[in-house]
Amino acid sequence: MGEVLEISSSSDEGPVVPKAPGKDGSSWQRENSKLKQMNEHLERQVAGQRIQLDNSKKRLEEQSQELVAQSQEINAHHKEIQLQQEKLAALEARGTSELSIDTIKLDDMLSCDICAHLMYSPYLLLDCGHCYCEGCLKGWFNETLTRHIRAHPAYNMYRKPVPRDFPQILNTIGPYVSHPIQMQLQAVYNNSRQQQPEYTCPGCRKEVTGKPVVNFVVKDMVSIVGSVLGRPDTRPESSNIRGQQAGPFDCFFPR
Ligand SMILES: [Zn+2]
Ligand SMILES: [Zn+2]
Repeated sequence: MGEVLEISSSSDEGPVVPKAPGKDGSSWQRENSKLKQMNEHLERQVAGQRIQLDNSKKRLEEQSQELVAQSQEINAHHKEIQLQQEKLAALEARGTSELSIDTIKLDDMLSCDICAHLMYSPYLLLDCGHCYCEGCLKGWFNETLTRHIRAHPAYNMYRKPVPRDFPQILNTIGPYVSHPIQMQLQAVYNNSRQQQPEYTCPGCRKEVTGKPVVNFVVKDMVSIVGSVLGRPDTRPESSNIRGQQAGPFDCFFPR
């Protein structure tokens, strides 16, 4: 009798298992179906792992694309930063040159029109707004005073003059005083004013009616511009031209 070959009933692809001679084929069949189950299980596992692998591959690809995009972005930022740095450098260069031009202009603006030096001690004339250095203004007023003393030898520079607003006061008190007294008071005022030297602005010649005041804005700017240009304050110690008054213009405006 020849060997009988049994082909798996459920699948054509299943393994062909020879029947053990002289024995019942059922144990082989059991073995066969067990192996088939295992095979199917393994195939499912492989398929599942393949799907996982595919997913991982996809994720990796996505991440790699993301990395490329980020690197491009970083490059773009880097270029932008370089551009900004170049612009900044250009602006700085321009700023320095503009500053030096401004300093020259400022030097001109902050210099005294009389002596052409930086006004380390600037004084403002309130009647016209002109500003000169202390030394030049004192010299100018002193010339006026000297001429005035020559013309009016009796002039006493320490005597307080009648205030400038006296005519207004006279108008107010007019109704309460007699006419002769009014005339007398007017004469006292006129006489006092005539005795006063008439100081003027050295630039516009407008009468200077009050003591010049320190121009603190110009003073601060001059100290900055002077230090930038390397020109320190070299004025000699200020000296009083006449008398021992506290302020530099007290002898010219004793009121
Ligand atoms: Zn001057
Ligand atoms: Zn003036």
